[in-house]
Amino acid sequence: MNTQSWLGRLLYGATHFEDNEEYLAFQFRFLCVLMSAGAVATLVFVLAAATGDNPMDPTHLRMMSVFSVLVLALWAWLRGHKHRFKAAAWLYLALCMVEFSSALVHVSADELRVLWFFLNIPGAYLLLGSRVGLTVTALTVVGLGLGNAHLARPYSPNAMMTAMVVLVYLGLFFHAYSSRSVSYFKRMRHSNERLATLASRDPLTQLLNARAYYQWCDHWLLGAARSGASCTVLFVDLDHFKRINDERGHAAGDEVLKAVATTLSEALRRSDVLGRIGGEEFSIFLPDTEPQQGAEVAEKLRQAIEQLSLSFDGRALRVTASVGVAGAQAGRSSMSAIQQQADQAMYLAKAGGRNRVSMLPLDASLSPT
Ligand code: GH3
Ligand code: MG
Ligand code: MG
Repeated sequence: MNTQSWLGRLLYGATHFEDNEEYLAFQFRFLCVLMSAGAVATLVFVLAAATGDNPMDPTHLRMMSVFSVLVLALWAWLRGHKHRFKAAAWLYLALCMVEFSSALVHVSADELRVLWFFLNIPGAYLLLGSRVGLTVTALTVVGLGLGNAHLARPYSPNAMMTAMVVLVYLGLFFHAYSSRSVSYFKRMRHSNERLATLASRDPLTQLLNARAYYQWCDHWLLGAARSGASCTVLFVDLDHFKRINDERGHAAGDEVLKAVATTLSEALRRSDVLGRIGGEEFSIFLPDTEPQQGAEVAEKLRQAIEQLSLSFDGRALRVTASVGVAGAQAGRSSMSAIQQQADQAMYLAKAGGRNRVSMLPLDASLSPT
């Protein structure tokens, strides 16, 4: 969850960015700051003109007022809506182009007004990427080159040449820099995703590991606490698994674990969550499921494991599992309490002779969270 200061909330609105949207978050915030600061700075110019401190061409003064109002409206439209970023960035750059061109045409007394165009180049690269940046650079150079002769007081050929060479340099520098930083962000996102997978998956079966599995369950229970939705947890423990290791070798045991993981994954619904929480122990979280339905799923899984036809080194391997079932209501039990209940139910199945499904009596109380 993003925590924002009051200034952040004022500038950006309530916007949540996923971990893999780091670059978008930077661009979005940059645009919000650019627009709010741009509008305010222009308003200061307008006020200075109104008080007579900075006399200004009336046409350009109107342009500046319209620019400020439109940019403020665009900023208000963008705040809190990250999916509007691209459209807002294009519109803002277009408004800036119009505004800077108006200054070029109407404010001949300001010899440095051509500098405004230099602001647009980095903005285009940072907001819309290298290709747009290069295009804006080329358009600016061509536009200034062709338009200069039509100005009331054109720049000297020498001044124009300097401006153009510097614009081209600026464009090339930002092209190199922004391409590099975008590729860096992409590689960073890719390696973060790889790290997240490594940290949350069991390397043998590719199922969620215990930490990631319990984290998912806790998150679901928290989200469903208000509605009090039902859920069921199945605890699957392979029977006499040690014997497989002892008699057929550790590699055979690993093959069994992978086969069981695949069987369980294939038998479950997409909304169910499966984790390998111990050596030969799997836990399954069935959201929105009553214990009775959960017990039926458990029986189906037990049968699927029993019916696995496995062989290792040309000899058949038989595997069975004992399954404990625990039902609960979100908001009334913690995941550790539900799992504990499923453990106890699983031990009942072991005690009852293995290769079976067990559930504690329904009135077994769970410790509240
Ligand atoms: P029970 O029916 O009572 O559950 O007996 P069990 O033999 O299945 O249970 P026990 O807890 O005695 O043995 C579990 C075995 O699982 C012991 C351990 O060596 C083995 N094991 C744990 N992790 C792995 C693994 O990643 N690969 C393999 N091949 N074996 C593992
Ligand atoms: Mg065990
Ligand atoms: Mg076991």
